[in-house]
Amino acid sequence: MFRRRPFVRPFRRAVMPAIPPALMRANELLASGNYPAAAEAYEQLARGAQTRGLPHDAQLFLQAGRCRILAGQIPAGMTDLKQGLAILAARGRWPRLLNAARRAAADLNARGLTAEAAEIEAWLKQTLPAGFAESPAVAAPARPRLLPTACPACGAPLHADEVEWSDEFTAECPYCGGAVRAE
Ligand SMILES: [Zn+2]
Repeated sequence: MFRRRPFVRPFRRAVMPAIPPALMRANELLASGNYPAAAEAYEQLARGAQTRGLPHDAQLFLQAGRCRILAGQIPAGMTDLKQGLAILAARGRWPRLLNAARRAAADLNARGLTAEAAEIEAWLKQTLPAGFAESPAVAAPARPRLLPTACPACGAPLHADEVEWSDEFTAECPYCGGAVRAE
């Protein structure tokens, strides 16, 4: 027999991918400003993802590199950043590569690391295929949407130029693959 649904709304449960606890821990370390520990945690996750052939490895290396730079560990940071960028290049992910390299170079410049920024820019120039031009439609919706600053599933910081958009309102977290609703 048909039973009327109770008036109290049940919790809306989205289908979420299982979030690795190590990822949540890394995101917490970053949020609390413990950059050396966060870098180490992201590096471990990146290597694990790489070993298992998961597509999040590039983003995790980039994030590890960012944390190393924030921790003042510049050579280690450059190694991680280049690793992440090289993975994107090997996969032919040119728009993502362009965004990631520009962001890395901007971060380095902002910290006065102009030689390192120039190294990334020079590498980008010789790595991008000839004739590749940035089109305005690169991996972003026609109208910019406001993303939450952190992924609601895993807590990773989100940037509009680092996510894949599955439709006009939905982005995919580059760390855990969870769907993130934009406004
Ligand atoms: Zn996430």
